[in-house]
Amino acid sequence: MHEFSLAQNILEIVIDSAREHGLTAVGEVRLDVGQAAGVHLEALEFAWKHLKTTSELTTGAALLINSIPAHAACANCGFSGPVTDYIRICPACQALGLRIMGGLEFMVTSISGE
Ligand SMILES: [Zn+2]
Repeated sequence: MHEFSLAQNILEIVIDSAREHGLTAVGEVRLDVGQAAGVHLEALEFAWKHLKTTSELTTGAALLINSIPAHAACANCGFSGPVTDYIRICPACQALGLRIMGGLEFMVTSISGE
């Protein structure tokens, strides 16, 4: 399960960072996820809820997901604009090979706690 390993990666980053900053309890973890990153947010949250309890540091940590809109450009017709999903078909001319210009983010942007 893709989202389970992503949640595992987040957990490792959070624990490393929490130790580095002397936190004893992580309160909030903020995450940027692009809409073209191919991440199922509900599955990610589900995995996080289970994994976070494996460390005392993260048991009470809430995962706050910032969903970033995807943008794409078409080399065929010059279309440039938002796309609503993980698609590679141009909404203007239906050509394949739409180039995703933004919305591929997947990163922890902040960790807070005490
Ligand atoms: Zn096009």
